[in-house]
Formats: sequence, C-alpha cells, structure tokens
Amino acid sequence: MVVAIGREYGLFIDGERVEAASGDARDIAEPATGGVLGRAAMAGDADVDRAVDAARAALDGAWGRTPPNERARLLQALADAIQANRSELAELEARNVGKAISSVKAEVAGAVENFRFFASVVGSVAGRSNPIGGSLLTYSLKEPVGVCGQIVPWNYPLLMATWKLSPALAAGCSVVLKPDPQTPLSVLRIAELAAEVGFPAGAINVVPGEGPTTGAYLVKHPGVDKVAFTGSTRTGGEVMRLCSDPIKRVSLELGGKSPNLVFADADLDDAIPSSVWSIYYAAGQSCEARSRVLVERSIYDDFVSRFAAFVGDLKVGDPLDPETQVGSLISAAHRDRVHGYVERGLEEGVEVLAGGAPGEGKGAFYRPTVLAKATNAMAVAQEEIFGPVVVAIPFEDEADAVRIANDVKYGLFATVWTGDAARGHRVARAIKAGMVGINTPYTAFPGIPFGGYKQSGFGRELSVETLELYLETKGVLVSTSPKPFNPFRL
Ligand code: NAD
Repeated sequence: MVVAIGREYGLFIDGERVEAASGDARDIAEPATGGVLGRAAMAGDADVDRAVDAARAALDGAWGRTPPNERARLLQALADAIQANRSELAELEARNVGKAISSVKAEVAGAVENFRFFASVVGSVAGRSNPIGGSLLTYSLKEPVGVCGQIVPWNYPLLMATWKLSPALAAGCSVVLKPDPQTPLSVLRIAELAAEVGFPAGAINVVPGEGPTTGAYLVKHPGVDKVAFTGSTRTGGEVMRLCSDPIKRVSLELGGKSPNLVFADADLDDAIPSSVWSIYYAAGQSCEARSRVLVERSIYDDFVSRFAAFVGDLKVGDPLDPETQVGSLISAAHRDRVHGYVERGLEEGVEVLAGGAPGEGKGAFYRPTVLAKATNAMAVAQEEIFGPVVVAIPFEDEADAVRIANDVKYGLFATVWTGDAARGHRVARAIKAGMVGINTPYTAFPGIPFGGYKQSGFGRELSVETLELYLETKGVLVSTSPKPFNPFRL
C-alpha cells in the first residue's frame, strides 16, 4: 500500500497547492471502513474567483501561447505520469470511493488512454476554406472556447475528471474543475502531476467544494465561458437553468436507467456473466449501469434463476483485495437510499431473488440484489437507484422489447444479446440511447462517442466530436479584389 493515510490536501490553483481562503477543510472518508482517509481543503466563492482569474491569465499567457503540437506532447507526458503513478492513484481511488481495486485499475488505464487519444487528435483541429467564388477568400478558424468550468460526480472521480480535462486541454482551453466534496483526492493528484510534467500554471485548477454553493457559483461565474457537467439529471437541469441567463455554453452528461435486452436466441453462457457485470461493476454506481434486464418470456425463468445464482457467488468486500468484485457504496446515507428503493419495490410487488439488504461490517456495503416479477411502470424500473440493484422484466417479442427499453425518461446506453446479427442492428437503431452494445457488455472507449439521448443529457465525451464542445468556430472573409469594393453596388 502506498497511500499516506491522513495526508492533508489543498486546493490546486495557479500551479500550486493552496489553502482555502476561509480555511475550510473536511475529513475525507474511506466508505468501506468508516475511517478517515485524509483531509481536504474546501473551496468557497473567493477560491473560485482566484481559480477563474488564474485560468484566464493562463489563456492570456503561457498556456494560450502553447501550440497544438506542444499541447499534444504535454497530454502524452501526463498520460505517462498517470501510468507511472498508477498504483498510488488506484489505491487512493479505491479507498476514497470504496470501489473494488480491480475495477479501479481499469479506470486508471482508461484515464491514461483518454489523454493519449486527445493528444493524437489535437492535429485534427482545423478550419476549412470554402471556394465560394468571386473575389472573396473565406476560411474558418477553430479557437478554444475559453475558461471552462467542469463539474464531476463521486462515482468515477478520476475517470470523469480525465474525460473532461483531456478534450478541454487538447482544444487549448483552461479549466477550473470542481470534484464532488466526498471524492476530491485523485484529481488533486492528477493536477499535481500535470504541473510536474510542465502544464503552465493556471491551465488546470481544482476546487473541491459543495455543489449548491461552490458548484453553482462556478457555473454562474462571469469569467467562465463554458460549463461541462456530469452528474444527476436533477442537478443537470439546475445547471442548465443557471447557464440560460448569460447564454453560457453547456454540455450535460446525466443519469441513466439503461436496459439490457436478452433474446431467447442469445448465447446465455456469455450473456449471463456479462449482464451481471453490466450492473454490479462499480457496485451499480455507474451512469450506464444496465439496471433493467429485459428477458424474452420463453427463457425468463431460466435466465433469471441462473443470473441470481451467479450474483449470489459475487465476492463482495474489501476494495483493496484483488479478488473483490463488488466493493462498498459511497456512503452509509447512499446505502440507506438504495435500500429504500428495494423496500419500495417490495411494496410494489417485486420478488427478491438475491440480496435485498445491507452488507455486514462497518462499511457502506449493500448486497447485490435481483428484483424479479417487476414491471416497467414500477419506481424501481423508472428511477435511477445507483446501487447494486437490478430489475428483471419479461418481454414478448422484439417490438415489445424495444417499447419497454425506450419507456423511460433516460437514454444513455443499451445492450442487446442475440444470436441474430440482423436483429442486433435493427434493435440498435430502434433504441433511443446515445450508445448501444451488441453482444458485449463494454461501454466506454476513447474514440467512441459517449453521451445521452433524452434526459441523459447532450454533448458527447471521449470522441473527436467532444473537441467541438471546447471550440468556437470563426469565419474570416478576405477581399482578394485589386479594385476597391463597394458593397452598395452588389
Ligand atoms: P449530483 O448531480 O448530485 O452531483 C454531481 C456534481 O454536481 C457534484 O460535484 C456536486 O457537488 C455538483 N453539484 C450539486 N449541486 C450543484 C449545483 N446546484 N450547481 C452546481 N454543481 C452542483 O450527482 P452525483 O450523485 O454526485 O452523481 C451521480 C449521478 O451522476 C448519477 O445520476 C449518474 O448517472 C451521473 N453520471 C453520469 C455520467 C455520464 O457520463 N452520463 C457519468 C457518471 C455519473
């Protein structure tokens, strides 16, 4: 173990670690043990002011003058630094979030790849010249949108921060990033590593703090040109409202209630363990968790009993044990909220086939839970529980499967299991979601656009398209006529 327990963490502003102006700090919990992992400064309005000023000065100074090839080199250097420090970062994240270290190692590897991907596409940022004829030469320029306020949640603090930082920095923007106050540690380390590899002061600033105060202040700040938010649909709506008055650019990555459709012709030996992984990975605290398993009625009973048996064998426990498959939830309060949903499901008539209760010990554990005999109208099928709880719902045929899959306010992800390739593509087209997997549980890879339809938000992460969120396009018109041009004679 390499993480120093009890370390004090500052804010990260203008290239250095600083205390909050108010002196505010809070203990950072280790949810799997109920212990204290460290202590972190908490930003208030004055700190956000300072961070936005630093981000603006960076744009007007060294960072703004950094050419694209040098930005790409810095992004690669940061990827190397994350790779070199991966053991520390993985342990820090696993302890702070309570998540199984095996999952977190994959997330750290994903963070490295994010920076490498956006380093590789920096060169694709280019305007175009249009041959519109006449004596006008026209061309367009791509310019960084400016200072970006980025807000990320607690479920993947490191990965979500790197999803946000890498395209913004590739585009040449500067960033003020606000992590969730429960989970600020890994991104503070990333900011330190970025300074060590040579990112100019002020390019990356990190201001952990409470959402409704510090977060809202950052969103509204007149010095912030663009807001990128990942979090719940409810908070996303509030962020969008705050952005409406100054017409601030905003992109939103929000919640989900993603379906996992299993047709009778699927290879169940693959579909069952993959479907289990799709919901219980990160203890169900994933935006794209496939929390509704829709199963063709002819195989429903067989599938659900085999699925529940698999769930019963999952190894739940110490996040730092490499054999652990499901760690703790983020907090006891969140565990109680998850349990409240299970109780509500029981009132609505579901049958609990596995789990259904908090786990043992001091940590915020919840047993992986399978709710059968569910209908899609129930609250447990419509609302994002954000814990290790799946509902299993039967469907009659392909049309019924698509109807149920689309019958939620969210549209983030869907997975389809079928032995019929044509059906896989048909269903992928019919589903209203930003991403669909066919016969694979996996979801997020650099290069594949990640984001939502409907109330799962708008804007795409992880892809070339993401760069557009951080760029302005400017059209330039040039007269090439040797004669004076009189616009009134057109
Ligand atoms: P949340 O909306 O409560 O908080 C997210 C972030 O917003 C936190 O940093 C919080 O401090 C901040 N915040 C809260 N109120 C704010 C306000 N009024 N103004 C500005 N900032 C504010 O969400 P959460 O519970 O931390 O995270 C879980 C949610 O995030 C789930 O709904 C999950 O689906 C979603 N999520 C989505 C994606 C995606 O890519 N679509 C990825 C991860 C998580």
